[in-house]
Amino acid sequence: MDIRENVSIVKDRICKAAFQAGRNPEDILLIAVTKNVEADAIKAGIEAGLTDFGENRIQEAEGKIPELGHDVKWHFIGHLQTNKVRKAVELFDIIHSVDSLHLASEIEKRASVAGKCLPALLQVDLGGEDTKSGFSREGILEVLDQVAGFDHIRIKGLMTIPPWSEDPEGSRQYFRDLAALKEEIFSMHIPGINMEHLSMGMSHDFDIAIQEGADMIRVGTALFGARCRL
Ligand SMILES: *Cc1c(COP(=O)(O)O)cnc(C)c1O
Repeated sequence: MDIRENVSIVKDRICKAAFQAGRNPEDILLIAVTKNVEADAIKAGIEAGLTDFGENRIQEAEGKIPELGHDVKWHFIGHLQTNKVRKAVELFDIIHSVDSLHLASEIEKRASVAGKCLPALLQVDLGGEDTKSGFSREGILEVLDQVAGFDHIRIKGLMTIPPWSEDPEGSRQYFRDLAALKEEIFSMHIPGINMEHLSMGMSHDFDIAIQEGADMIRVGTALFGARCRL
């Protein structure tokens, strides 16, 4: 496996999708998902020009981030248990997966103690799947006012993981719905709620996510190869 070559293939796909959509490829942030990827391979990724990395388990990240350092950015993208929030605040630059008011208030509390203000995205579960965490469309609208009042967590956009479909086109409607929800929330002009980012698209469907407005894509397999899932 040649990470340098994979990075170049993924960047070509980003450019192609951006041009198709009349967008600037530089507006799309590639987040390399490094769950189950060892520190040496991540270092090779950094040498190949990757700047942003995503992890989905605190325990695994704890063993890697201190060694790899903060010249690169670390994105937390997994379900975050409240008893791991203190560690998450310490390790990560942004959290993509705020999926409940309870979690948001715990981050507010821990970030306040740490003297930090942590950027975060609200995770939306548009497929209504029991196995996926995230706010429903209605659920998110109910918590916006409360979350906007927090001083140590700054909401900067939305994230979603659509239901799996073999055909990447199956993700398109979910991406479109998330983009529409972002616009709807943006037009509410709630002070303290910023709708700058749309985190959507993974190895098999990020081209479509970019066409539908993603500015953060989370890519693991296409960069590091298929890994056995923990
Ligand atoms: C694993 C993971 C990804 C990357 O998935 P690939 O299909 O390997 O690109 C993206 N987002 C989340 C939340 C993940 O857990």
